[in-house]
Amino acid sequence: MADAAASAKQPASNSPGWDATTSAIIAQAELAETPELGMRNDAVGTHGIGRLDYKIIDGKVVYADSGPVRIMITEALVGPANEPNLGDLKQAMTGVYGTDFGVHSPTWISRFTDMTRQAVEYRDRRVLLAGDAAHVHSPDGAQGLQMGVQDAVNLGWKLAQVVDGTSPQSLLDTYHAERHPAAARVLRTTMAHVALRRPDERIAALRDTVAEFLKHDAPRKQFAAKMFGLDIRYDFGETHPLLGRRMPDLDLLTVHGTLRLSPCCTRRGPCCSTSANRGAFNGVSRPDRVQLIDADYNGDWQLPALGPIDAPGAVLIRPDGHVAWVGDRTQQGLAEALTTWFGSP
Ligand SMILES: Cc1cc2nc3c(=O)[nH]c(=O)nc-3n(C[C@H](O)[C@H](O)[C@H](O)COP(=O)(O)OP(=O)(O)OC[C@H]3O[C@@H](n4cnc5c(N)ncnc54)[C@H](O)[C@@H]3O)c2cc1C
Repeated sequence: MADAAASAKQPASNSPGWDATTSAIIAQAELAETPELGMRNDAVGTHGIGRLDYKIIDGKVVYADSGPVRIMITEALVGPANEPNLGDLKQAMTGVYGTDFGVHSPTWISRFTDMTRQAVEYRDRRVLLAGDAAHVHSPDGAQGLQMGVQDAVNLGWKLAQVVDGTSPQSLLDTYHAERHPAAARVLRTTMAHVALRRPDERIAALRDTVAEFLKHDAPRKQFAAKMFGLDIRYDFGETHPLLGRRMPDLDLLTVHGTLRLSPCCTRRGPCCSTSANRGAFNGVSRPDRVQLIDADYNGDWQLPALGPIDAPGAVLIRPDGHVAWVGDRTQQGLAEALTTWFGSP
């Protein structure tokens, strides 16, 4: 009975989501014959053959006359979960091009799908999931690797602080709280990408409509920010547009000269005060691991892709570059932010 009750509480899968609706074989190999280079669209989907050796001339890809190729063939039916072999590649190429162009000597052959899944919990005590172990989705939009790297950057400094006793174990729970929603959004975006490239006249009409929309500056910038993960905002409140976002990488002016901000985001999180709030960190118990920078920035304050924001008077930045506190002529909330992110002084 107890077992049944316990299992009833378990989610159906620790990684729920959506099964694959499309798959493609990809490979790097040699061809005995001259292939049709470039992309091809048909009733099944998009396919492509390109030489590894190419140049971009006047915005166009110009392939070398010979050399190994990369091949991508969308499959008519979702392929099995096993690794494809040369026979599978030949068959798929023949199905699309009517020939396999004498494909031989593959360096590698693989298959990818649009399976879309995300772990329910990124942390179970001492086990933490990051990268594709935490979330998988179609490679459309090229976001998987950067998502995984951002997971690691978010988690690394927290792990270090818990291991060296600076912060309590609960700091690790903020990893799931921050990164799970970020990946969930990417999963939705990649599902939209896959849907938009379906070979269907109605989807083609939708694609044209979206393309028209993206000719305008504001939606294009917003979309670009989403694609590059630059619009990610962790939920630390709404008092300033910088709060929870990644700090822009500025050249700050200090009494010692120009200081690039991003190299300062090491394990010692920086707190910067500008002349608008020069005494922001005075009289506050500050852990040693926080470095104080008195600096100014005379340019426009811009968030990459998102546009101009009001200049902050003072900021506390976490080691992963996200802004944990913003103070304009006030220290309100600073002591709490220092304790939350850097342990007690
Ligand atoms: C066709 C394609 C194109 C892509 N293009 C892009 C792109 O342009 N930009 C982008 O950002 N992302 C892209 N991605 C996604 C990106 O490749 C992945 O998101 C990224 O590689 C995931 O990295 P990872 O380290 O989390 O996992 P993996 O790269 O899968 O690494 C996990 C490693 O763990 C090893 N391993 C597994 N089990 C064990 C075990 N029990 N013991 C020891 N080792 C083990 C595996 O062999 C593997 O080396 C693409 C993906 C595909 C399929």
